[in-house]
Amino acid sequence: MCCILRVDWSKYPLTQQIWEEFGRMSLRERRVFLKEHSLQYTQGHVPQCEDCLHVFFNCQCNNQEFQERKKLWLKELSKSFEEKLRHSEDIVREKTQLIKDNNLKIVLAYSGGIDSECCLQLFKEPISQGVIKVIVGNTTSELPDTYKRWREAEQELGVKFMYGLPERGTTFESNANIFGLPVYSRNACVVMAGEKKHIKREESSSQSRRSTIMCCFNLKDKPQKLLLKGYDGDILGLKATESRGRSISLKKTGDCFFSNDMKWHIRPIAWWTIDDEWEFQKEKGFKYNGIYDKTNCGTKGKYKLSTGGYYKIRSGCAYCPQGIHNGYLEWLKEYYPTYFNKLVNIYNNVSAKHNDGIDFNKVLEIKKVKNPSLFSSSVFS
Ligand code: SF4
Ligand SMILES: [Zn+2]
Repeated sequence: MCCILRVDWSKYPLTQQIWEEFGRMSLRERRVFLKEHSLQYTQGHVPQCEDCLHVFFNCQCNNQEFQERKKLWLKELSKSFEEKLRHSEDIVREKTQLIKDNNLKIVLAYSGGIDSECCLQLFKEPISQGVIKVIVGNTTSELPDTYKRWREAEQELGVKFMYGLPERGTTFESNANIFGLPVYSRNACVVMAGEKKHIKREESSSQSRRSTIMCCFNLKDKPQKLLLKGYDGDILGLKATESRGRSISLKKTGDCFFSNDMKWHIRPIAWWTIDDEWEFQKEKGFKYNGIYDKTNCGTKGKYKLSTGGYYKIRSGCAYCPQGIHNGYLEWLKEYYPTYFNKLVNIYNNVSAKHNDGIDFNKVLEIKKVKNPSLFSSSVFS
């Protein structure tokens, strides 16, 4: 373990001694341990180094190469919005030329969320000219404002998007009925030596994780894979500020790269923050998904919870249980009551059928719990 590791152990639910034992376990033992304690890497439950943000047993503070990359990332992040925008516009210009010169087939993945909206707006000219195609993963369980924005954006750009749809009859509900509720993160990944190493599916074939893998596979991955066939690369609105995993991978690859599988990957807003995105929207005045205006605190994209905390409004699958402990339910109930009621029905039916041990009344108690993080351990145990 690195000698300059800096961890605030008191922030985490177990003692330092237990975590140190955890650090000495094999991958498999760690996974079993986390499951037993209803903890997840992706939820920030495992202590991490305050400096490099890797999980504590994999601190990278002594790794020279990592430190170089970190310097670059901090430099990019500290730039003003104007500088970041100039850099992004340079990417748009250069990559559009590259695409035209080499006759590349490149797609921009659009979801109607603010990240991909910014990408769409940056590349709107080459999209309108037909140089870049837009693909949309339609899981059939999006919120009505998202569908509205898709149609609106098509009209604004004067092009038809390509939609990846699940097979006929396959929905969130049908998946949940067959495989169970997709409660656990499908990635179950650990960060090793600066790289994500996914635990093999065979090793993580518990029923709970399988339900998420199957749900994402049927509603998103399979339809999009078919759409992407024959394309030379993609444009995605990934941001390093979004999560620790994104930050690590973007620091490693940079914002544009040519991968081993011979594809171009363009990440034009890699170094932006959420504030940069809204500043961009204000400056350009483009329309966006109405979900971000469903707010009670006067700030786009944020909703004040009864617990006093804030829910960061997101687009995506309306019934997905993975984000509900962050206050999503309270927001959904206020602005999309029909969707909320449908979600309750689906969860109750599926939970009863699969005996998942999820009592939906407990889920609703989140609104009365002072600390929403208590939710995940009390409900999904
Ligand atoms: S994000 Fe959630 S609801 Fe959407 S496909 Fe994946 S598991 Fe299913
Ligand atoms: Zn560190």
